Amino acid sequence: MILFNPKKYDGADVDPKTREILLKTIDFFEKKGLKKIKEDDQLSVWYDDFLEFFKKEKVFATLLTPSGYGESDSRWDMWRIAKMNEILGFYGLCYWYTWQVSILGLGPIWMCATEEMKHRAAKLLKDGGIFAFGLSEKEHGADIYGTDMMLYPKGDGTYVARGDKYYIGNGNEAALVSVFAKMADTGEYVFFAVDSKHPSYECVKKISTSGVRQAYVAEFALHDYPITEADILARGQLGWDSSLNTVNVGKYQLGWASIGICTHAFYEAMDHAANRNLYGKFVTDFPHVKKIFTEAYARLAAMRLFGLRACDYMRTADAKDRRYLLYNPIQKMKVTMEGEKVVGLLHEVTAARGFEQDTYFEMAIRDI
Ligand SMILES: Cc1cc2nc3c(=O)[nH]c(=O)nc-3n(C[C@H](O)[C@H](O)[C@H](O)COP(=O)(O)OP(=O)(O)OC[C@H]3O[C@@H](n4cnc5c(N)ncnc54)[C@H](O)[C@@H]3O)c2cc1C
Repeated sequence: MILFNPKKYDGADVDPKTREILLKTIDFFEKKGLKKIKEDDQLSVWYDDFLEFFKKEKVFATLLTPSGYGESDSRWDMWRIAKMNEILGFYGLCYWYTWQVSILGLGPIWMCATEEMKHRAAKLLKDGGIFAFGLSEKEHGADIYGTDMMLYPKGDGTYVARGDKYYIGNGNEAALVSVFAKMADTGEYVFFAVDSKHPSYECVKKISTSGVRQAYVAEFALHDYPITEADILARGQLGWDSSLNTVNVGKYQLGWASIGICTHAFYEAMDHAANRNLYGKFVTDFPHVKKIFTEAYARLAAMRLFGLRACDYMRTADAKDRRYLLYNPIQKMKVTMEGEKVVGLLHEVTAARGFEQDTYFEMAIRDI
């Protein structure tokens, strides 16, 4: 079967180091168990256990540090990043989210920061740090032209940052937050990095979301946060381009998370229906239920096949090979919308059971 199956996954499609990481990640969640995953979800607790595990196994450092900045087995490789996306989506979107927004936060750093900043980020990754991407603002949403986080020059070559960001994942704990802003004097775009533990950084609140409950989706404010040239990642056109390209790279992950969610929901729905006997028949024997499972499987298989192709184009992308520009938006938009259809179809089978709090399914309904 083309779908990911944690009981059968042997990691034959990746290199030995990646295999070790992926199998240990599966083992972490299998040991944690659905009961505890759901308890933590309902209590909306911060996932210290998961981040501690990732830190111990150097998962962020190995998978999210490009070659040359970390250990010899560290590299940025969309193939193995995609595998991790699928596994994390399979066990819980909130776990995927802290990984996903770290990828976003690292985007402008790896794309255009100084060597000094890149080495700083690599060191923080090695220490188990997580990252954040501070693009969105409450008043402006998708309209990033309207950004009003500002960097004010002090006249001595340094700056202070002032403003507010909204919907920023990991905004409570990030070792570095990449912040998109404008120069107050020229209106030029600028990206700079801040530390969420600095006294001039205020984590205003956790935004309560219906899905990814354990994640910390933050509102944060910078109160005259001191910035030097060393903290600046990019300016002008490069700053603008790196924000859009970070979204390209980062949001590609959404499709894989959706595939992971649908796969788990599919297994749970099948298990429920195959064990439920109504009118002297198993629910899986009802003709319309067979049709639903067939359609859900076909859509999910297509999502995954498309994702694999998109992954190839993300890996080979460069200034000449721009096929990713077609495949990436479809992966992030169409694949995720198909995911909604798959969960919707399966919900017609799980029916009331799909709402019960001890199932993965009710989380899938919220997170998809
Ligand atoms: C759970 C969660 C986590 C998030 N994490 C982060 C994060 O870590 N970092 C971060 O920076 N942001 C994050 N975001 C914010 C996310 O990127 C925003 O949703 C995004 O900025 C869009 O803003 P908005 O949802 O307010 O939509 P709005 O800007 O209010 O847009 C409303 C609607 O207008 C239409 N529209 C807007 N612009 C266009 C356009 N150019 N073309 C066509 N139609 C358009 C669309 O129909 C859109 O749905 C997160 C959001 C959520 C819900």
